[in-house]
Amino acid sequence: MSAEPVVFFAGPEDPAGAVGPMLERSGFFGRVRRRKTVGLKVHFGEEGNTTHLDPAIVRAASIALSFHDLQPVVIETTALYRGRRQTAAGHLELAREHGFGPARTLAPLLILDGEEGERSYDEPLNSELVPVARLAHGLRRIRHLVNLAHFKGHFVTGFGGVVKNLAMGLSAKAGKLEMHSNSKPAVDADRCVSCGKCVDYCPVAAIGFDRYVAHIGPKCTGCGGCLAVCPQEAIRVKWNAASESVQRKMVEYCRAVLRGRAAFHFNFAVNITRNCDCDNHAQEPVMPDVGVFGSLDPVACEQAAWDRTEANLKAIYPKLDPGVLLDAAEAAGLGSRRYRLEEL
Ligand code: SF4
Ligand code: SF4
Repeated sequence: MSAEPVVFFAGPEDPAGAVGPMLERSGFFGRVRRRKTVGLKVHFGEEGNTTHLDPAIVRAASIALSFHDLQPVVIETTALYRGRRQTAAGHLELAREHGFGPARTLAPLLILDGEEGERSYDEPLNSELVPVARLAHGLRRIRHLVNLAHFKGHFVTGFGGVVKNLAMGLSAKAGKLEMHSNSKPAVDADRCVSCGKCVDYCPVAAIGFDRYVAHIGPKCTGCGGCLAVCPQEAIRVKWNAASESVQRKMVEYCRAVLRGRAAFHFNFAVNITRNCDCDNHAQEPVMPDVGVFGSLDPVACEQAAWDRTEANLKAIYPKLDPGVLLDAAEAAGLGSRRYRLEEL
């Protein structure tokens, strides 16, 4: 018998319909004690984003958990960027507007890192890269997770899936900053024409002028948004180094989140867009929907989704190598890049 982990797969026609059967067949419920709280980790989508996950997926997970006498709670954290998701109150309001309110999902909503993302706890890791992970404070009480990740492109890491959903999605702001710390851009003074577009755009007011040339200061979170607004292409990042650093740190944060927790991971490879759901614009999918991948093994789940999307996403981000994340996750003991696909 193969020792490779199973990744369940279902086509894209009914993503919500795949949730209950995959959880049942995986043996996840045998790992969870009855009446316990289970965190459903989902991204609600930035204001203006229309390709985030369908709330019906969260509802399906709530129903599946309720059959086993478990308490679902939908969990998220505040975002680094300026906007309504930056505070808990704004984030909750937007979540309800996007259809993730309790009436639809059958579960309460919780933002785990305080009103401003300031509430964290330290999870020590035996790692030079991330000695201590700064996780969202409320995660302490949640020992079981259903990881509902939207699989799509990402301009720093090549793709975003189950690892990113836990690592970025369940860290406090200090943790998010730490993961982004090497992706800060710089301005090429010879190209800058002092138009001020980057200054107006920057969500954390990190850009000012120094002798008529835009200058990026220490408040920069490395979100990368200013690169897109500069008409002169004067703002640049050493993407290879930045991408590798973010990917490796996300793996460490994911390791911190999963330590001592039972989890099941879903990659919903539908509405696959160029950028992640933090993008505040409506985006067109860059390829046809693939379907739903689900596994107890986060690395296998990630690898399976990447295997079916690599050709399209590599064409968009030819300089990024998401293999860094997959290799690092396997080396860290999070799971296996080899897997056995089982179709529902
Ligand atoms: S948007 Fe570009 S050209 Fe305009 S101020 Fe910023 S760096 Fe300079
Ligand atoms: S990457 Fe650019 S837009 Fe983002 S925080 Fe830094 S300076 Fe501001």
